[in-house]
Amino acid sequence: MQDLRILRYPDPRLRKLSAPVTEINSELRQLVARMFELMRADRGVGLAAPQVGVNQRLFIINPTGNPQDDRVYINPELSDAQDQDEAEEGCLSLPKITVKVLRNRKLRMRAQDLEGKWFEEHADGYVARIWQHENDHLDGILIVDKMSPLEKLAARKTLRELEDAYAAVHPGWKRKR
Ligand code: ZN
Repeated sequence: MQDLRILRYPDPRLRKLSAPVTEINSELRQLVARMFELMRADRGVGLAAPQVGVNQRLFIINPTGNPQDDRVYINPELSDAQDQDEAEEGCLSLPKITVKVLRNRKLRMRAQDLEGKWFEEHADGYVARIWQHENDHLDGILIVDKMSPLEKLAARKTLRELEDAYAAVHPGWKRKR
């Protein structure tokens, strides 16, 4: 658990479809605790399990940085989307990149907690945005997929640097573009 790290683009594990969590046990609770450590260390507001190389449907958020606002969502299901707005997003797997993303403003969340109990929440604005960003990770979707042509151009150098850094430690990896 201690050797878990936040994976960075273009690690292919960030692109996998994550499988439902079937067992909520002490190992999973340890994983979640480690994810909170990593998220805080990088001053993030959300982190999805595939970002630490665990392709399971689970993410954590903390929109304020206060420990009492830690939230865990296991097997999350988003529904009842209402309204949309656009705002800049960053991602711990894509340092130094921001992308303007259109998201639903209001959502309903159904998920399991660390005891396996199903619960429901509603959110709008910032929290709803974080939910959608993290939920995208469970489907292998990254903010680079939502870039405009102009944003792609502006981020080209940074993306190239991330790709070179990954290729340096994974010699078999081939750039797609
Ligand atoms: Zn992210």
